[in-house]
Amino acid sequence: MSYAKELQVAQLAVQRATLLTKRVFREKAKGTVDKSDKSPVTIGDFGAQALIIAALRHHFPDDAIVAEEEAAQLRADPNLADQIWSLVRDTRLPDPAAEDLVGGPVPSLDAMLDLIDRGNSPGGAKGRIWSIDPIDGTKGFLRGGQYAVCLALLVDGHVQVGVLGCPNLPIDDAAPLSADVGSDDPSDDNARGVLFSAVRGAGAHSAPLSTPTAGKPIAMRPVSDMTAATFCESVEAAHSAHGDQAEIARRLGITRPSVRMDSQSKYGSIARGAGDIYLRLPVKATYQEKIWDHAAGDLIVREAGGQVTDIDGKSLDFSVGRTLANNKGVVAAPAAVHGEVLKAVQDVLRQKSTTT
Ligand code: AMP
Ligand code: MG
Repeated sequence: MSYAKELQVAQLAVQRATLLTKRVFREKAKGTVDKSDKSPVTIGDFGAQALIIAALRHHFPDDAIVAEEEAAQLRADPNLADQIWSLVRDTRLPDPAAEDLVGGPVPSLDAMLDLIDRGNSPGGAKGRIWSIDPIDGTKGFLRGGQYAVCLALLVDGHVQVGVLGCPNLPIDDAAPLSADVGSDDPSDDNARGVLFSAVRGAGAHSAPLSTPTAGKPIAMRPVSDMTAATFCESVEAAHSAHGDQAEIARRLGITRPSVRMDSQSKYGSIARGAGDIYLRLPVKATYQEKIWDHAAGDLIVREAGGQVTDIDGKSLDFSVGRTLANNKGVVAAPAAVHGEVLKAVQDVLRQKSTTT
């Protein structure tokens, strides 16, 4: 199956959602959204989720949806609901034909709340399930750094389509990987804002977020000399074990410092060869990764020539519900060196368990 329609709808839905998140960020900068540090995230999350689900429901009304947010908080807070509704109502794709393709505007505030609540599927191994992270990397979003709007289609537990909208990454695939902070200057839109897409078996692509369908193929960079490799990791020390990751890098002979960035931008960045390795070692043994934090990125990296496993070398298993209950951590690297990286991961973890 080609999934051409699913890809097109997903790309445009993500593009529209990023227009909303960018507006939220700029209004926060102007002081229009300033209730608390959490508020812009909340507004952006709910608004982006509503717009994406509206597009999916328009074209694929029978598909299930696993999304991060639910509307209960909004039903209890009419002011917040109104603020989000005004953004959802007013965010349109600039091209009217594209706006039609994502189903046009959401008709009412109540419809918006119902759409948000459609993301409550338990997930699982059967049928078509979309996974949505409306704003992945909330801390990055607040800082004006990296965040991603993430959408993937799972069919019978396997990712078939993955799309990542990264408003603050450079469009240029060859731009060096850096943890620099994005700009809220609208003129910067010419240089920043990239959309990564992949369809299983059909490769991975990147495109400017402003013209999401005009993609070009991307591929991971071959690593011939591990000492020159670049690895990336979360900014948040609570999300992955920086100390273990540094030790793994040392063991591999990697000499460059890690690049820390929030969100699935890490997957997109290594998929286009801006970096090489993404390590996400568990901090807490009991934490279960969420499927919406990985589904799109996993496919994009694999379609670009990478291998993605957990710390035990198992593929990420998206078939067991809203979390990756069968996996611990993430190790993503070009397929040719993934075994070497995984061995270093396991050596470091083994050594740690015998010394603690
Ligand atoms: P990142 O930006 O790569 O650090 O990942 C952001 C995601 O980390 C968020 O969307 C959360 O769902 C997820 N997260 C929250 N707590 C943890 C944790 N203890 N370990 C790993 N990931 C987490
Ligand atoms: Mg997330």
